[in-house]
Amino acid sequence: MTLRIMTVDLEGDFDTKNVKSLEKIVPKLLDLFDSRSIKATFFVVSELLDSHLNLILEIRRRGHEIASHSKTHSFLNSKNSLIEIQESKAQFEGAGIYVTGFRSPGFITANSHFEDLKKCGYSYDSSLAVFWPGRYMNFWLGFRPQAFVQESQETSGNKTKIVELPMPTFFWPLINSGLSYLRLFSPVSLLFRNQYMFYLHPWEFLEKSDLPQEKLKSFLGKLLQRNTGDKAWKIFEKFLDQCEKKKVEWVSCSEYIEKVGVAK
Ligand SMILES: [Zn+2]
Repeated sequence: MTLRIMTVDLEGDFDTKNVKSLEKIVPKLLDLFDSRSIKATFFVVSELLDSHLNLILEIRRRGHEIASHSKTHSFLNSKNSLIEIQESKAQFEGAGIYVTGFRSPGFITANSHFEDLKKCGYSYDSSLAVFWPGRYMNFWLGFRPQAFVQESQETSGNKTKIVELPMPTFFWPLINSGLSYLRLFSPVSLLFRNQYMFYLHPWEFLEKSDLPQEKLKSFLGKLLQRNTGDKAWKIFEKFLDQCEKKKVEWVSCSEYIEKVGVAK
């Protein structure tokens, strides 16, 4: 068995306040995960608790891990970083959900990122990716980003550890290991190198007509319209079939950290 991490970023459709994917896609995705014995981590934007508490509790009831994907899905900077990290955790706890992991929107982090996470008691993070022009540049992660421990000495003398689960690439440096790229480059993408972690957004399975139309005219919007709806499901299933042949076991972030012994 090869352990791999399945992650789902649960947010408004295509970075808007629309939430069609929560109602139309998430239940189907949960059934697919059940049928294939996949356990995932759902990085959830905490303000969705206000409108979709039952759905989020259902995700957890089905055996998946809930982690934070910020409070409002605003890109993090020196002004809002601590607030988004802190308030989302508090909001989850208010709903009885204790979260230990965090993923920043757009893989963009503030300089204080790890300090902020430590202050709020998170134990792992999955916010670093290698390169996207104008957004992030972490070439130091190397050719094959993999889990590592971020350790720091505090003024009290205590050492604190945060496990980092960086986003690997299908193709170095900028093709992240996610459904967006599988869809975009399909069918060639079936030849991509398989990596230890994968991510997707439920809105990627929406039919074109259900996507927020105002977002589709941009360059990124045009790219992301490729292979949506049924085609997206087929591409994803093919990818899962391929992994099944290689005896991949899909687990949540916390389970991976524990089983692989990353923090030891
Ligand atoms: Zn996101």
